[in-house]
Amino acid sequence: MTVRYELHDKLETPETASEKPRRNVLQAMLRGAGNRCMNCGKGKVFDGFLQPHYACSVCGEEFHHHRADDAPPYFTITIVGHIIVPGLLAVEVLWHPALWIHMSLWVPLTLILSLSLLRPIKGALIGLQWALYMHGFDPDAEDDTPPIPVPSERVT
Ligand SMILES: [Zn+2]
Repeated sequence: MTVRYELHDKLETPETASEKPRRNVLQAMLRGAGNRCMNCGKGKVFDGFLQPHYACSVCGEEFHHHRADDAPPYFTITIVGHIIVPGLLAVEVLWHPALWIHMSLWVPLTLILSLSLLRPIKGALIGLQWALYMHGFDPDAEDDTPPIPVPSERVT
């Protein structure tokens, strides 16, 4: 049996990849984390605490394409865990406080950190998906989900 390999001097990239402008990933993530539209930097991303707007009110960039799913809580738990657990262990080793002091310190701190980080992390992940043309943010991709009605068409 003979295996034959063909070598090409230049790998061809799909034409659609070169047609789309490069998006600044860091800027998009920072804008998303700051609740600012990753496209224009002026409109807001979130409607409520964690619910994104359907689209930017300033430039019309659609946000409903995002698929953040479980990633924001995952990253939040990871970050908060890496802050709280070493802090708790250090305090226990150094001062041996009573259990009620641990409970009154670490439980509220965990809740405050989690709630304050969850939204910026979700915004940053939406910004990352937008910058990388993931999911529906790619204008050339076929829509993989059923259409979501615009807010004015929703029945409340
Ligand atoms: Zn915008």
